Amino acid sequence: MPKAIDNLNNLKKNSVTRRLGHTTLCLLWPLFLIACPRSAPPDGGNVGVSTQPAKVSPVVPGAVAFNGERAMAHVRKQVDIGPRPPGSPELAKTREYIVNELKSYGLTVSTFEFAASTPVGEKKMVNITAEIPGESNDVVILSSHYDTKFYKDMHFVGANDPGASVGTLIELGRVLSGNGQKPKFTLWLVFFDGEESFCEGWDECGKPGAPDNTYGSRNYVSELKSKNQLDRVRALILLDMMGYSNLELGRDTMSTKWLQDIIWQTARELGHGSVFVDRPEGVGGDDHEPFLRAGVDAVDIIQLNSYRYWHTPEDTIDKVSARSMKTVGDVVVASLPRVEQRLSSKSR
Ligand SMILES: [Zn+2]
Repeated sequence: MPKAIDNLNNLKKNSVTRRLGHTTLCLLWPLFLIACPRSAPPDGGNVGVSTQPAKVSPVVPGAVAFNGERAMAHVRKQVDIGPRPPGSPELAKTREYIVNELKSYGLTVSTFEFAASTPVGEKKMVNITAEIPGESNDVVILSSHYDTKFYKDMHFVGANDPGASVGTLIELGRVLSGNGQKPKFTLWLVFFDGEESFCEGWDECGKPGAPDNTYGSRNYVSELKSKNQLDRVRALILLDMMGYSNLELGRDTMSTKWLQDIIWQTARELGHGSVFVDRPEGVGGDDHEPFLRAGVDAVDIIQLNSYRYWHTPEDTIDKVSARSMKTVGDVVVASLPRVEQRLSSKSR
């Protein structure tokens, strides 16, 4: 909480604190934390555009609360299915599970199939979209990939990559469609196929304009363009590898700053400043990239460099925690009204 310490120092300069002394300061500490974010955001008010950013609360009274155990059940289901690379019957089974879950919450779900030419031949891929209608026709996308990386000689079940982000996104579908309140913007929950490269390395087999990765998100953007729908998409929030029990999320250096600031600030206000930390996270490419290239503001919530089980047989369910998924779920739910508020006052 570096920012909060700055406030304390400022206060120290003025007479009040000089009289109080150190011990009293510690007692008052939580008051500063409670008082500051509401009245004056510690980072100089970069967060909200209007003077009064939307109040932060993980749960609106009477609303559905994000349930980490439910998200965990979705992770377990995927892991039980086994390795789920693009074009596999296991991924088709996972897709059926995701679609049925989302439909059971009353969401309108559509799938889009396309053929991708990959280093291991042509692969049938399918993107999934679930819609929560909003007051506006403009769209905010919440997303995750749902394929696991293809390995010939490794039993890779991808509990955190992408089991946890898929489980969190399904549970967000239940929460955001269940709170009986129409969101300001239409929400699309999108599950991308083909995020992972078929060759070992992300850039190993790519050609100019045809990388061996992000097949689903690239197809999604080109479909939006061909249907003149891209303008509707005002922002994208991507979840990837955010379920590790020892969760620490740095700031992806590619992501759109205002969007990232809102989420990190909201996390701090919810007491998750030690999870959403202010150190840079170099990701070097993920499903938000095709959207950024197309001019859509996008943020990637990902723990990559400090997840040592990445793309190993040890990326198993014991590494994933319901609590980590609930932390991210709560922060996303609480951040959305602020994102919508910012977009409402922001020209395209
Ligand atoms: Zn991966």
